[in-house]
Amino acid sequence: MEPDAVEDYRFVGARRRLIETIRAQGIEDLEILRLFDRVPRHLFVPEGVAHRAYEDSAVPIGFGQTASQPSLQAYYLQLLAPGPDDRILEIGTGSGYLTALLALLGDRVYSVERIRELSVRARRVLDQMGYKNVALMVGDGSIGWRRYAPFQVITVAAASPSIPTALVDQLDEGGRMLIPVGRREVQDLLLVRRIDGRIEEESVRDGCTFVPLLGRYGWDDGTDSGP
Ligand code: SAH
Repeated sequence: MEPDAVEDYRFVGARRRLIETIRAQGIEDLEILRLFDRVPRHLFVPEGVAHRAYEDSAVPIGFGQTASQPSLQAYYLQLLAPGPDDRILEIGTGSGYLTALLALLGDRVYSVERIRELSVRARRVLDQMGYKNVALMVGDGSIGWRRYAPFQVITVAAASPSIPTALVDQLDEGGRMLIPVGRREVQDLLLVRRIDGRIEEESVRDGCTFVPLLGRYGWDDGTDSGP
């Protein structure tokens, strides 16, 4: 599959500079660096912030959410190393940009977003660009997407007070998950792996700040007032 490259020459130079910035952060894998050249981030963020799409920073996408910093996403890809046969679960579709990067590496991407408008927008952009191996769902991703489990790769773009057990349950043998865990203001990025049936956790970066994972196994979103 080769999604159509929707090129806008205004952004070519900025995109090349972003790739250099990502490389300078220690991401040397050429396959990963090339992805950042292939996927036009300016189409995934709202038009009003398209001019900031190739800054190495989080960009607001509406509804109080942000598209994550590209170099951090490159780091995710390097640690998760999705392969062509891998089924990938993404929690927090957001702009859909990481979804596209993952779709170029893995077999299929299953991505869950709690804000319908963001999911609808991501669907439209991904469809326009010809991605066929992406399934999106609106809902609480802290409980995963059991129907398609187990997953070889799980990536969580929002911070949780603890590792959601439902996500660990849906991690395949040999599978790896990245999730920011900690307090509301600052978190550690944890790499969680299932190796020989055992779960291993490792903190790979501290001092991260992600938007909160709101839901049953995340932070209370104020909607669960049941008995
Ligand atoms: N990778 C995305 C990051 C978006 S920010 C990008 O680069 O655009 C994280 C996203 O997680 C937000 O869109 C937020 O709405 C979503 N989110 C938070 N809690 C969630 C939950 N329980 N289930 C699904 N999505 C959630």
